Amino acid sequence: MFFQRTIYIFSLLLCNTSFSTPIMVCSAENFYGSVAEMIGGKFVKVTNILSNPDADPHLFSISPKIARAITNARVVIYNGADYDPWMIQFLAAQPSNNKLAVIDVAKLIGVKEGSNPHVWYNPQTFPVLAKFLAEKFSVIQPDNKSYFEDNLKSFNTRYRVVFSLIDNIKFNHPGTPVIATEPVFGYMSDALGFSMEEKEFQWVIMNGSEPSPKMKADFINKIKKKKVKILFYNNQVTDSTTKDILSLAKQNNIQIVGISETMPDNKNVIEWLTSELDEIENAMKDK
Ligand SMILES: [Zn+2]
Repeated sequence: MFFQRTIYIFSLLLCNTSFSTPIMVCSAENFYGSVAEMIGGKFVKVTNILSNPDADPHLFSISPKIARAITNARVVIYNGADYDPWMIQFLAAQPSNNKLAVIDVAKLIGVKEGSNPHVWYNPQTFPVLAKFLAEKFSVIQPDNKSYFEDNLKSFNTRYRVVFSLIDNIKFNHPGTPVIATEPVFGYMSDALGFSMEEKEFQWVIMNGSEPSPKMKADFINKIKKKKVKILFYNNQVTDSTTKDILSLAKQNNIQIVGISETMPDNKNVIEWLTSELDEIENAMKDK
């Protein structure tokens, strides 16, 4: 009797342990990790790889510490669309039998290889990922299904502010011509109904190459002739050309909105998008 009881208590303890063990999530980019945290809450432990808003994520390589984080993760999230090929290479090179889910966000939202890789600025991306994660986490920990579903509901409720800010800007400033040093904000600019100028130049900068003299001249003319309302400036992907453009835009009183490629540490994705959209709305008011 005593023996049976001991086994019973012991198995209860075992059950409890597995019940409260957090799902180890590793996200290549911190904004996707933020969504995982908002949905998984106390039942996930998230490690983010790209989390420094001062570093260029297009020029990244894996350290041993990061390799361990990816190896130990049960759920892996990465951007895809050739933004973080190091993750795919790393996963392909190691036996992945401990993985419960490997999520390519670009594929999840139907973006093809060769498209603009900055897919998180598509306003649909975070809600789609949030829903997918709520389903995945519910399969992994069925006992916590209603907890994940509640978190998804409150995520979607909070996210409404992002859609309403986008609708307001689109309604109040239709077709505004804008320009950018790098294509980071392309999807959001499209969602806002802006006309993004000189896209070819931006791709050259993203790929770390030198724009042709004609591309540069065309870009500079748009600023000097004040053909654009806003310059979206990516602080993480810069060179002497982008810095010259920044000072030229300042001289010509073009509104400058800084767009980061990596989320600042002190924000979640909703706060992050909200603050950038607020900044755009303010830039519209100034002139
Ligand atoms: Zn970029």
